Amino acid sequence: MTKFIVLLGPPGAGKGTQAQIISKTLDLAHVSSGDIFRENLKNQTDLGKLAQTFMDRGALVPDDVTIAMIQERLGRPDCNNGALLDGFPRTPTQAKALDDMLSENKQNIECVPYINVPGEVLVERLGGRWTCPTCGFVYHEKFNPPINAGICDKDRSELYQRVDDKADTVKKRIDVYWEQTSPLIEYYRENGTLAEIDGTQAIEIVTSQLLEAIQRSNS
Ligand code: ADP
Ligand code: ADP
Repeated sequence: MTKFIVLLGPPGAGKGTQAQIISKTLDLAHVSSGDIFRENLKNQTDLGKLAQTFMDRGALVPDDVTIAMIQERLGRPDCNNGALLDGFPRTPTQAKALDDMLSENKQNIECVPYINVPGEVLVERLGGRWTCPTCGFVYHEKFNPPINAGICDKDRSELYQRVDDKADTVKKRIDVYWEQTSPLIEYYRENGTLAEIDGTQAIEIVTSQLLEAIQRSNS
């Protein structure tokens, strides 16, 4: 049985943090559109260079490019049993494209946990986010700090702050979320897959509520 789960929520809601934990628990591929763009940027591919012009100003990368990238990623063998999607879809066009891609293989989305976090909290979370360039683990200087400030607990790499986590770009990204991504809340509510979760709770509580929601959708 395949299992496709879409994590929905504004920037800073905790999608990446939760996806890293849950993909291991459920043994599902973690497909993060933002991580794929950043990997392409690191390797200076054409896709990475194109994406950067949008990412740096907090705008969305165009749908056609993003959809093609995800279609390629979901076609790889590690997604045969399903995937945990983090950051995709982000527009109604992307959501429709994902439904079409899955239905071609007689698959569908099982559950869409919507991690709900209000705007003021998002700004504080993104302002204090530190990421490991090697393993991608996400920390927060106050809410989920590494043992040694600025150093990854897992591989001792020096942590970095994303350029798009600067205050102005964060504001823009949250606006873009409300304009372009939030209509997906209704889209998935209407098709019965949405499960709303209060993302202001502690990381462990959000994880257990996410797992419960996914389990419920299975039964
Ligand atoms: P997203 O992928 O949705 O943008 P992240 O998982 O990167 O969000 O989390 C954004 C920041 O908030 C990170 O610094 C992370 O450590 C922190 N964070 C995530 N979940 C929580 C939580 N439940 N409580 C407090 N801080 C959190
Ligand atoms: P966050 O974790 O804060 O939500 P992401 O890492 O998911 O941020 O995304 C970073 C940036 O990558 C976005 O601001 C956008 O420019 C681009 N991006 C990621 N996913 C998509 C998508 N599905 N469609 C268009 N652009 C995207």
